[in-house]
Amino acid sequence: MYKSLRYIRIAVSLIALAVPTWALLTGYESVFVRMQILTSLMTGVWLVLIFWALVTLIYGRLYCSTVCPLGTLIDCVSTGARAVAPRGKHAKNFRYCSPTPTIQFIALLCFLVAVLSGSAFLPTLLDPYTAYARMVEELVARPLGVPLDAMAYTISAMAAAIATATGVVMVAWRRGRLICNTVCPIGTVMGMGSRKAYFHMEIDPDGCINCGECERVCKAQCIKLPEKTIDTARCVVCFDCAAACPTKALTYKSGRYRLDMPMMEAVGDGKANITSPDK
Ligand code: SF4
Ligand code: SF4
Ligand code: SF4
Repeated sequence: MYKSLRYIRIAVSLIALAVPTWALLTGYESVFVRMQILTSLMTGVWLVLIFWALVTLIYGRLYCSTVCPLGTLIDCVSTGARAVAPRGKHAKNFRYCSPTPTIQFIALLCFLVAVLSGSAFLPTLLDPYTAYARMVEELVARPLGVPLDAMAYTISAMAAAIATATGVVMVAWRRGRLICNTVCPIGTVMGMGSRKAYFHMEIDPDGCINCGECERVCKAQCIKLPEKTIDTARCVVCFDCAAACPTKALTYKSGRYRLDMPMMEAVGDGKANITSPDK
């Protein structure tokens, strides 16, 4: 089942990448653009914001694994890195890493202050859809000679696009979704909601044989295998781990396991939480 869910998720994300890209190149409005968080925030389309808030609270960060084109681009790069890098070497890169709440908080605070003060520089730099659009317009459309509405060529715009593309590719190649779980303000806000999402990925300690396959494929680096925990704030619900698990010990579910022995259950910060047997 998880393999099918994973294929569906990949298909949706590729469509959500291709349609806005085509829209940017041809100049028409796409529904995927209207579904972007900052676009909705700036245009006051609260229905879209409420929709994504509810989806995140119930299902986790589905927005990040399907609709965000930058997230899909990052996944394409990290999948390519896994395909060409020696398996053992690259697996090391995707092992669990600790969350970085201070960096996330500072980036989010700067973003909010900039938005509230009316400054465009930081929001357009940190907003994932704007960053993606800038790369497509400057690095694809302009070299192809596609007419860009009222957008004159500037060195600063081209430099920003090159810097964004270089940074995204380099970080994604080595560390998968690190950008999503450090500087992206949308990811930080979504992580607050997905921390306690009703459905979440969970490892059954009884079924796990410690093969490490889930940890190897988790580009969010949020599976803490020794403690059998998953940082649900950073998990983007991509189903890669569940599809790779040979024993079906990884499941997407609500509620918690109940065992006869004290156990460790998934918590938001990735740390183990010991639960008494009679709880
Ligand atoms: S964390 Fe940000 S960049 Fe990453 S997928 Fe989510 S919205 Fe996009
Ligand atoms: S892939 Fe499954 S069996 Fe292997 S370590 Fe992960 S949860 Fe355990
Ligand atoms: S824990 Fe699993 S579902 Fe979550 S990001 Fe990692 S691989 Fe994807």
